[in-house]
Amino acid sequence: MYGTDSGQAQFTASFRCFGNLPALLKRRYRDASIVYRFKRHPAVKDAIESMGIPHTEVDVIVANGCSVDFHYQLQHLDTIDVYPLGCTVPAGTVLHLSAPPVEPVAFVIDLHLGKLTRRLRLLGFDCLYQNDFSDAEIMQLSFDQQRVILTRDRGILKHRQVVHGYLVRSDQVDEQIREVIDRYQLIDQIHAWRRCMACNGLLEKIEKAAIAERLQPLTRRYYLDFRRCRVCQRLYWQGSHFEKISRWLETLPGSDGQD
Ligand SMILES: [Zn+2]
Repeated sequence: MYGTDSGQAQFTASFRCFGNLPALLKRRYRDASIVYRFKRHPAVKDAIESMGIPHTEVDVIVANGCSVDFHYQLQHLDTIDVYPLGCTVPAGTVLHLSAPPVEPVAFVIDLHLGKLTRRLRLLGFDCLYQNDFSDAEIMQLSFDQQRVILTRDRGILKHRQVVHGYLVRSDQVDEQIREVIDRYQLIDQIHAWRRCMACNGLLEKIEKAAIAERLQPLTRRYYLDFRRCRVCQRLYWQGSHFEKISRWLETLPGSDGQD
């Protein structure tokens, strides 16, 4: 299948994409071996992104047997192999392009992922989210605060200044959370009931007596352990919701269902 970066392409390069990358390719590039046609000498980053794969999804690029970075300029008859993070790469690969995120991992999340945001906060992760964030604001927050961008919009991840970003594949929140935990190896950093799902504020333990007048009679009667958001004052307690979440935590691979 043929792709092009211009109407008067003179040169060709062949590409192969490995791991989970082929699913991101535009339909017309979904062959085992892609012949990419080009006119000038685009950076390999631009060629890969024009086929549908944001650079944040790429860890290793091998051009004619040598690992190269995103600035490598395509040459006629190049053979390019593209690998995601976590994929087996050829022995002797020296360049890994995906930078590990700054610890502890924090996120800035685009407006389509409100449910994922609440779930990540429930697991204790610092997540900035507003349903009116612009792409520019998301990129600036990512840059200024070293936050990983989580998005379903691959356009934002193609911006050169975006270093830390992940394209969320699934539209189901349970699967999304698994993707993110797996991508950033977060299973040992889960700390449930630390952060407010509504506003991202930290929770503090609070004596029941101090908030008794805010509780419904049945809640006041049956529950003992309460936490309060330091920012928005919202209350959390270990009721049936807690039981449900605890069971769900236990289903995560490698989790001990900690609270
Ligand atoms: Zn709050």
